[in-house]
Amino acid sequence: MLDVIKLLPDSVANQIAAGEVIQRPASAVKELMENALDAGATQIDLVVKDAGKALIMVIDNGCGMSETDARLCFERHATSKISKADDLFCIKTMGFRGEALASIAAIAQVELKTRRREDEVGTYIVNEGSIVKEQSLIPMAAGTSFTVKNLFFNVPARRNFLKSAQAEMRHIVEEFTRVTLMNPDIGFTLTSDGKEVYHLYPGTLKQRIMGLFGNSYEEKLLPVNQETDRVRISGFIVKAEYARKTRGEQYFFVNKRFIKHAYLHHAIENAFLEMIPKDSFPGYFLNIEVDPSDIDINIHPTKTEVNFLDVKLVYAILHAAVRKAIGQHNLSPMIDFEEPADLNRDFIEASKASRPIVVPNIPLDPNYNPFPQHRKPVSGDWRLLYGERTDIPTAVETNDVKPIELPVEQHTASQYLQVNQSFIVTTVKSGLLLVDQHLAHTRILFEKFLKELENSNGASQQELFPQAFSVNTNDASLLKELMPELHNLGFVLEQANPTTFMINGTPSDAAGHDAVELLERILDNYKINRTDLQLDRKLNLAKTMAAQIAVKPSTKLSEMEMQNLVDQLFACNVAEIAPNGKKIYVILSMEELLTKFN
Ligand code: ADP
Ligand code: MG
Repeated sequence: MLDVIKLLPDSVANQIAAGEVIQRPASAVKELMENALDAGATQIDLVVKDAGKALIMVIDNGCGMSETDARLCFERHATSKISKADDLFCIKTMGFRGEALASIAAIAQVELKTRRREDEVGTYIVNEGSIVKEQSLIPMAAGTSFTVKNLFFNVPARRNFLKSAQAEMRHIVEEFTRVTLMNPDIGFTLTSDGKEVYHLYPGTLKQRIMGLFGNSYEEKLLPVNQETDRVRISGFIVKAEYARKTRGEQYFFVNKRFIKHAYLHHAIENAFLEMIPKDSFPGYFLNIEVDPSDIDINIHPTKTEVNFLDVKLVYAILHAAVRKAIGQHNLSPMIDFEEPADLNRDFIEASKASRPIVVPNIPLDPNYNPFPQHRKPVSGDWRLLYGERTDIPTAVETNDVKPIELPVEQHTASQYLQVNQSFIVTTVKSGLLLVDQHLAHTRILFEKFLKELENSNGASQQELFPQAFSVNTNDASLLKELMPELHNLGFVLEQANPTTFMINGTPSDAAGHDAVELLERILDNYKINRTDLQLDRKLNLAKTMAAQIAVKPSTKLSEMEMQNLVDQLFACNVAEIAPNGKKIYVILSMEELLTKFN
């Protein structure tokens, strides 16, 4: 019988390998631009025609190649960047596999012009389908230019598989964006079908973001900076109020390499929790710097995945960094650090050094109940409420309390209506205000509980007849874990035996609520979120308590109760969105009202 196994010719092997690395024009763009970066270029120009299908050209002013290297660079596994297996664990360059040029040359017509600064003349090479067609010496400026024509010319199936020019161009712009974002000190241009699409000058990251996404980003960005021994996080997040309905600008980089990382993305989403509506997405441009030996980037051919040795640590630091940025912007109701001690120190140091953190202007009285039983009615201005309350010293003294600019105009109404015993309706200058009473109260209590958890000043009400709370041994240990926080909220618990706790006091706000049910709910939620959301213990507690205690839909409210609720709501840090991400109120503007009568 004849032998049947043959070795594939190199050109075919390269073509097969190419399918892995070069899936579309944008993949070639990425590889060529990264090579230019690795070559130390300070100016990189990208030119494409017909969304890269007809032509991709990348011109750089980097180190260039010798005549021999120019020939060699098209060989598979030809790389100047690593030479032994150990090097794989300390990669500092973008490329390292030595596959890209071999792959591109296998499926396109490639022209290379390159000259090192020290050489008199440059080298010109034409490589088509892995075969060198032409080689000569040419005069040229130092640097390298690759011209890739007719991508997939010899793989018709691939070529037909490409999407519309518009779609392919979007991919190219995306790759261009990723590369340029992390190299703001380098100048870039992108020209498509003869039109200059981007002209990015060297500058700061902020300037680069503005160059790519528009000058409006000047307003939208919050700086993020966090450094520990092992990890450094820097970049910008987009302020919560500019969160977008589509997964917009979400850029993670590890050592300047773009990555996708669902787990770390969660750290950011989680840090934004309560800040942006459920159906919106936070924007970010963040670079995580770690020692190259702390990551493994060699797990995927297109290299947008990275394995961290200690991903939990990175998660915690990232989360803390974003919380800090939000906190300094004074959007966050609190800064819930539960991270390693030195992070806290960093934070305190940072806040001392920079502009002091403005204490959120929440005139919250820890003992204030928006549903007073015995208080005289007060008129429009909520501040009068606090002026009246001289009997109980408040955490925030009244002289701290400045009038708060309502996100809408000052509402001047004197009339409050309740619809369906669930929504409060009143007028504001610009039109009609509709408030969900349950969500509004949840937000008010949520912010209040967070403050209490921070300041350990939750008011407690002593139980005349202490209730027993029986749990299993597992829950008993959880409860003990939560004891300090529960105490801060106003719970007074005493362990009677291994599985029974006496409830000697409950938070004043929870008056009239079943303390046992409340604790059960808290334990349940804590268990659900314990594994992933450890960092948000306080957040979680405040959220659970608030949702449990807040006035329910279908509850009749007096006019004064409604007024208090609305006033309290607009004194909150975030009045628009409930802790569960839902909209708390809507305003029907006069225009909208008028159009309804057309
Ligand atoms: P890798 O980048 O993984 O090393 P490539 O196939 O992309 O593999 O490139 C092969 C080699 O060609 C590189 O290691 C580098 O030495 C050389 N090279 C590629 N592009 C350039 C460039 N723009 N300037 C200088 N040298 C380059
Ligand atoms: Mg490369």
